[in-house]
Amino acid sequence: AQLALYFNQMAEKLNQIESMRRRLIGDVSHELRTPLTAIKGSMEGLIDGLLPATHETYQQIHTEADRLNRLVDDLQELSRVEAHAYQLDIRPVGISSLVQTVTKRLKPHAESKRISLDLELAPDLPHILADEDRVVQVLTNLTGNALQYTPAGGRITISSKQVNNEVQIAVRDTGIGIPPEHLSHIFDRFYRVDKSRSRQSGGGSGIGLTISRALIEAHGGRIWVESAGEGQGSTFTFTLPIQK
Ligand code: ADP
Repeated sequence: AQLALYFNQMAEKLNQIESMRRRLIGDVSHELRTPLTAIKGSMEGLIDGLLPATHETYQQIHTEADRLNRLVDDLQELSRVEAHAYQLDIRPVGISSLVQTVTKRLKPHAESKRISLDLELAPDLPHILADEDRVVQVLTNLTGNALQYTPAGGRITISSKQVNNEVQIAVRDTGIGIPPEHLSHIFDRFYRVDKSRSRQSGGGSGIGLTISRALIEAHGGRIWVESAGEGQGSTFTFTLPIQK
């Protein structure tokens, strides 16, 4: 009876893996099709003479090809991260230098959008145990999103404090916020709150947060989002273990 039970559980697990695999292929095909259709449509327009062979037309095609490129890069990174096909180089890392690496990189973008980028780092924070490059990658993703989804004149604050054996790092913005019904899906792959808006505004493929979550969980940390709703801003927080 025990053996039959295990067997059924195993069969059920295989079923789940198979259906996840099928869903993934469906999602990827869908995501690839959108830019491809746009490129094909523009090329046909050019060939038939219905679209003018102007700089703007070529620029549009280039933008879609670029999107395709980024999507493939993101997918490659996602599969590497989810399969744990990378080594974490865990060392003691100082929070303030890590945060500064990210703010220095994103400051020009923030200034060009007239968004203020502020820091609220608790004094005497202990070092965290982490792979610095990977945490920079996560913080860059969260801050980049905050820049993307915050209108001009807004404010982004990166804060950090110690809570028990962990350090919490949060990215808070005064941007468009996230409606409550989307909050629990935001880390799912390909999930975007508003697909058409995110495409028009040069948004990504909805993979960035999935990669960030996998990276933080590989460090033994957690990541979550809070938002009071549309127009109310968002806060993304993650935890990392401290050096004992
Ligand atoms: P994308 O590359 O589309 O930004 P992400 O996985 O990074 O993909 O984010 C998924 C979705 O979560 C975004 O498309 C957007 O709808 C929503 N989102 C992420 N960050 C924010 C934010 N700071 N404010 C509002 N919405 C956000």
